[in-house]
Amino acid sequence: MIQIDLTGQVAVVTGGSSGIGLATAELFLRAGASVAICGRDSDRLAQAEASLKAQFPGAQLLAQTCDVLDADAVNAFAQAVQARFGRTDMLVNNAGQGRVSTFADTTDDAWREELDLKYFSVIRPTRAFMPMLRDAAGSGHAAVVCVNSLLALQPEPHMVATSSARAGVLSLIKSLAVELAPQRIRVNSILIGIVESGQWRRRYAKEAQPGQSWEDWTAELARKKNIPLGRFGRPEEAAQALFYLATTLSSYTTGSHIDVSGGVARHV
Ligand code: NDP
Repeated sequence: MIQIDLTGQVAVVTGGSSGIGLATAELFLRAGASVAICGRDSDRLAQAEASLKAQFPGAQLLAQTCDVLDADAVNAFAQAVQARFGRTDMLVNNAGQGRVSTFADTTDDAWREELDLKYFSVIRPTRAFMPMLRDAAGSGHAAVVCVNSLLALQPEPHMVATSSARAGVLSLIKSLAVELAPQRIRVNSILIGIVESGQWRRRYAKEAQPGQSWEDWTAELARKKNIPLGRFGRPEEAAQALFYLATTLSSYTTGSHIDVSGGVARHV
């Protein structure tokens, strides 16, 4: 594996208390960065903080409760990062969740909620951390990376609002990348398919046949969903792509995305 030393750099991961965000925080800490994570649930956040501290004793880690849809909380999170670490070099906009609903059963309120979550989970943190990212870019390197979904390019009718919002966010990221390029801030995203996470573990608990293992259940679903690599992705596989896009490993890449879908994308 390519080694990269992030000592002295600061990475912020929204939704860093679980799944992909937590795996990304681990990679940054392993590379020597200081890391700030946030999430809404304080117990989950405290558990994540404890597990990271156990793995990386002496890690420079800030964990703060923050809902990315609450502008004041996001600003307070950015201020806490500024006060603790004095800088932000890399921002990973990861917080969020999907919504399963067809056009027929998506209400106006549900549409608004979904558009709000997908757009403002990117807009608010990016705006709040921008002054620090600009400073970091001035003295070297700065990047924003967003967790997006393959639904942005390959919509699914059973996730109509999420698919539509994901496409809009892909466009937003492209515009941001062009606007921020002169300031030397790169902006990219990953497009993921299905990645093992809390929500899939809960579905397994509800839907699996008695005695059916997690591996068998996910392999069967992967077959049904025609995932060419035949399995769900793992959080660390999404995290590795985020890490690549957040660091100078991808220093000549902006306004782009990496597909982490196990081959589900059908377009050329
Ligand atoms: P997890 O549920 O394991 O992690 C989601 C994280 O985001 C948690 O830390 C959660 O903490 C946090 N979070 C959710 N909403 C907010 C919010 N409003 N403000 C702050 N933190 C929030 O899921 P994943 O790791 O799978 O999800 C990571 C991202 O990947 C999400 O944006 C998701 O939509 C996206 N994604 C995942 C897919 C998959 O198959 N797993 C597929 C496509 C996209 P808390 O709940 O305590 O706030």
